[in-house]
Amino acid sequence: MKKDNYAGVREDAGLPAGQALLREYYVKMGVSPEVCNYCSTVEEKLKDRFEEIDRVAQINQMKVLAAMQKNRLSEACFAPTTGYGYNDLGRETLEAIYADVFGTEDALVRPQITCGTHALALALSSQLRPGDELLSPVGKPYDTLEEVIGIRPSVGSLAEFGISYRQVDLLADGSFDWEGIEKALNEKTRMVTIQRSKGYDTRPTLSVEAIGALISFIKERKPDTLCMVDNCYGEFVEIQEPSDLGADLVVGSLIKNPGGGLAPIGGYLCGTRECIERAAVRLTSPGLGREVGASLGVTSSMLQGLFLAPSVVKGALKGAIFAANVYEGLGFKTIPDGKESRHDIIQSVLLKKPEYLKAFCRGIQAAAPVDSFVSPEPWDMPGYDDQVIMAAGAFVSGSSIELSADGPMREPYAVYFQGGLTWEHARFGIMMSLQKLCEAGFRLPG
Ligand SMILES: *Cc1c(COP(=O)(O)O)cnc(C)c1O
Repeated sequence: MKKDNYAGVREDAGLPAGQALLREYYVKMGVSPEVCNYCSTVEEKLKDRFEEIDRVAQINQMKVLAAMQKNRLSEACFAPTTGYGYNDLGRETLEAIYADVFGTEDALVRPQITCGTHALALALSSQLRPGDELLSPVGKPYDTLEEVIGIRPSVGSLAEFGISYRQVDLLADGSFDWEGIEKALNEKTRMVTIQRSKGYDTRPTLSVEAIGALISFIKERKPDTLCMVDNCYGEFVEIQEPSDLGADLVVGSLIKNPGGGLAPIGGYLCGTRECIERAAVRLTSPGLGREVGASLGVTSSMLQGLFLAPSVVKGALKGAIFAANVYEGLGFKTIPDGKESRHDIIQSVLLKKPEYLKAFCRGIQAAAPVDSFVSPEPWDMPGYDDQVIMAAGAFVSGSSIELSADGPMREPYAVYFQGGLTWEHARFGIMMSLQKLCEAGFRLPG
């Protein structure tokens, strides 16, 4: 490889200087020129889509910035607290900022909320009382919630506390079963849980608009029903959040979208004053509520991560759309497809062969900034019937706003791919996944 080509035109490649240098990096890091070429032609066609994503990110950036200024975020907010954590200015400011960003009366944003499942379990168990019923009008909730609710018998589940559960599945075309939902609402229905992202299911992700229509439908029939949205993977993908369209509570994880890759831990609940009060006393203790909970120095990462989140989500979304178009162009089925509008950052590709699924994950791993030298292997993950393969080389352990991929080793060998702290890195990860597929025997056309 030539070393003296940092200026001027590389005539041999017929590419402008910058592109030639970029190509040189890609090749040096293991991607073949054929894969580079194919991916460049895919990217060329996505300009208009990417411009639209840039506009959404610009609006969300202003939303976050305005909330920080309005709440007078200051350097004093970054000071760590320990012990009880009384009068933690940073924590209080962070929560006020979240409430403004999500357009709610109040928010609870804490490192003591350990993950997304914990945030959702807290939201449910704090609002529901014995004899109440929880309704999911959008089908089966996320796997980990099955034990929270007691769909799968589990110690400490809502079922153990005498809280019943009812579910109305989506219709075959992915739309709401309005009639079924109307019938399912009854005098016991206290709360409705709506999962925005498809998660690891095959149903479509719900748009904020669709969630708004569902909430209106429920509130018209039973106004005292609390509507909670599992907002995981959806934050900042659109210019509105479900809380802008009537949700009483929106809930998510800080090691996904809103943490912007910087939050090292945490979860959030944004909602009405009463809902947040009930959640706070459940998280800590009746009488103490939100007044305790030391921040141990992580508040500044949570704030800086929130500040970056619109931009980070933008990169992850571009990566997802790029991946859909790269693989669709090669004849693979992708969910969502290359043209569909986006409501979360998850992309799945049906890779059809076990060796392609392994290759994809190995490509993502090989492209990572951390642990790039390890090679993922399928393993027997607790709670799953089939072996699962996972790729993650993240700064924050388990973070799925960072470039990551996983999939169960079974037909149709679907990989679920998400994240990427920057579009540039997501792009490279996808190129690398295709490179590994080619090395496993896949042939590019032409
Ligand atoms: C990730 C996720 C959760 C659970 O979050 P964890 O942090 O993994 O516990 C719940 N619901 C959805 C839709 C998710 O994507």
